Amino acid sequence: MTPAEILAAPLPDLLDAAAALRDRVTGTRVTWSPKVFIPLTHLRRDRCGYCTFARPPARTGSPYLSPDQVLAVARSGAGAGCHEALFTLGERPEDRYPAARQWLDETGYASTVDYLVAICRLVLTETGLLPHANAGALHPDELAALRPVSASQGMMLESLNPTLDCHRGSPDKTPQRRLATLEAAGRQSIPFTTGILVGIGESRSDRLDALAAIAASARRHGHVQEVIVQNFLPKPGTAMWSASACPADEELWTVAAARLLLPPEVRLQAPPNLSEDFGRLLAAGIDDWGGVSPVTPDHVNPERPWPAVDRLREVTEAAGFELAPRLTVHPRFALAPGRWLDPALRPRVLARADAEGLARDAAWTAGGEAAPPRLLPDSPRATGAVGEVLAGVLSGEEVGEAEIVTLFSARGREVAAVAGVADDLRRRAVGDVVTWVANRNINYTNICTFKCRFCAFSKGPLSLNLRGAPYLLTLDDIAARVREAWDVGATEVCLQGGIHPSFDGDYYIDVCRAVKEAAPGIHVHGFTALEVTEGARRLGEPLADYLRRLMDVGLATLPGTAAEILDDEVRALLCPDKVDTGEWLEAHRTAHSIGLRSNITIMFGAIEQPVSWARHLLRTRALQAETGGFTEFVPLPFVHMAAPMYLQGKARQGPTFREALLMVAVGRIAFSGFVPNIQVSWVKMGVEGARQALQAGANDLGGTLIDENISRAAGAAHGQRMDEAAFRAVVEPLGRPLEQRTTLYGRVAGPAVRS
Ligand code: SF4
Repeated sequence: MTPAEILAAPLPDLLDAAAALRDRVTGTRVTWSPKVFIPLTHLRRDRCGYCTFARPPARTGSPYLSPDQVLAVARSGAGAGCHEALFTLGERPEDRYPAARQWLDETGYASTVDYLVAICRLVLTETGLLPHANAGALHPDELAALRPVSASQGMMLESLNPTLDCHRGSPDKTPQRRLATLEAAGRQSIPFTTGILVGIGESRSDRLDALAAIAASARRHGHVQEVIVQNFLPKPGTAMWSASACPADEELWTVAAARLLLPPEVRLQAPPNLSEDFGRLLAAGIDDWGGVSPVTPDHVNPERPWPAVDRLREVTEAAGFELAPRLTVHPRFALAPGRWLDPALRPRVLARADAEGLARDAAWTAGGEAAPPRLLPDSPRATGAVGEVLAGVLSGEEVGEAEIVTLFSARGREVAAVAGVADDLRRRAVGDVVTWVANRNINYTNICTFKCRFCAFSKGPLSLNLRGAPYLLTLDDIAARVREAWDVGATEVCLQGGIHPSFDGDYYIDVCRAVKEAAPGIHVHGFTALEVTEGARRLGEPLADYLRRLMDVGLATLPGTAAEILDDEVRALLCPDKVDTGEWLEAHRTAHSIGLRSNITIMFGAIEQPVSWARHLLRTRALQAETGGFTEFVPLPFVHMAAPMYLQGKARQGPTFREALLMVAVGRIAFSGFVPNIQVSWVKMGVEGARQALQAGANDLGGTLIDENISRAAGAAHGQRMDEAAFRAVVEPLGRPLEQRTTLYGRVAGPAVRS
């Protein structure tokens, strides 16, 4: 709509049009930023008629918060799960107040912005919270100085009407100064937050002018991440104390006008603590609640406490939306760090982000000790795009790439809805039985010539090794471990390891032989697509012939590891010298063609986004449609703690629990009718996580895994062995039967029948 059409439209029509546009762009998702608010100084040069934030030195004590005071607030926020440290302050108080100038001189700072840069760096380094500097109208050099330490920056445009009474005596509130700041931020590729004030004496046309200016700047530079529409409320002790508050309908009109005028990719925010009935703002087109703090008050509006997060969720859900936490830098910018983030900030943002560029929503990490959030059971509800995809699934439609990505976007109650459908499909496919297999992992060497950047397991030659001792088991060692496993009831050994420089393909043949001589009845589940491809290559032998020779000496099935993410764009960063997507698929196609069966794994949550997960699921599903050789799907959440690429600041902290649970559920949905078994990795998900996964489509708990070196090398804390009683403890609260299985999902009737 044009400004003229907006001015002429009745309010209900405007609200409907804005809400419909918002629904098309952001669907059911409404974001908020868990933050702490840090008022670095209450002194400011300007004297705005509506503001209680600015105070003279006589009312502030020290002109600035000290580093210790700032850190105390930031640490309490970090402990409460916040991601953002919002610094709000006014422009250049040192130009007006000698006390400020003196404090800066005594502490060695050239200016307030100079101190702000140092404090942002301190908070970032000491707490990991991502600073957002809201320091008013700044010069280009000041914006540039903040860019390496502040993930995003902001300044309210407020109004472009130069005659407003409330801005008399405020040299930084001239339209030219503020527009110049907005433009300078755009030229420097700074993710930027701005906004307008409503009800300070401006007209509707004035607001449209300001919004049009923001929209033009956003289109020129792409840097405007969100626009805040903030309603005026009179405050005691200000020049505007006797003025009327902004009428609720004016605020709603302005929110709707903003949605219709701004580019659709610009997020729209209204503060929930400044409206009595903040749920109505959703009907006007907002998609973001801004920063809400579980720790600090809103220092600009201290008389208006933020709603508790539970209340925010309740109101958001009552209006049919789902709440999702975000970082101070919005996903569009977090996912394009090369353009929008200073190199120093990229690892910090990555460490706090999820696969969609939003904020991690709980302390849980794969293989870590923090308990997972309880996402199930919950009141399932899915409207919007997720609901549409689920309806299609229930009517028998196969999901494609777009549908899978949509399912991975589920938040809040939608997660339970996706899990519910997956659970239903699981029941129809394999019933209620939960299975497990008694197995032992044997990782015969951790010496590897490959350089997978996520791998904490492999070691170089001893002289170069910085991460522990390299080892190579002898065939006798391997045989002894197999006998031990057989003697305690294992039915399977899982063999995989590094690609030792001295191995030729005959090594794997010798290993199989040694295993079968030690325990003729044991099932040999061994050798990744990389190992067999490399083994055949080193012998110069066709892969099919080589696999037949392995079968002849006892190889029974192949594990699906070395798949990581079957999307070559991602593999180029994760594991550039390993088999590529086509080679992995070809190795399994060949194995299936000669009668070997195998499984599908995915290692997810390091660097990639949901579209790559979708491609992985679809590529393996297509091969299954062709060969029918896959027995199960095994999602393996990335364990980040000791992974080289995480330690270098180039990976996330693995998937969030929501993502890990959705991988199970979406896997069940995507493989419905193709792959009957979905396994949950208790090593990586933990016992409570595994229990939730069993309610989200999984039907198998995997192996007892006597010795599980690879996840533990990456930092996983969960124990290295489960037994039947431990599996029973996972399953019993769900009222589901537990049965021991063979590798190929036959049943183990008793200790004597193990093959
Ligand atoms: S993942 Fe496997 S191939 Fe890659 S470096 Fe580690 S041990 Fe070697």
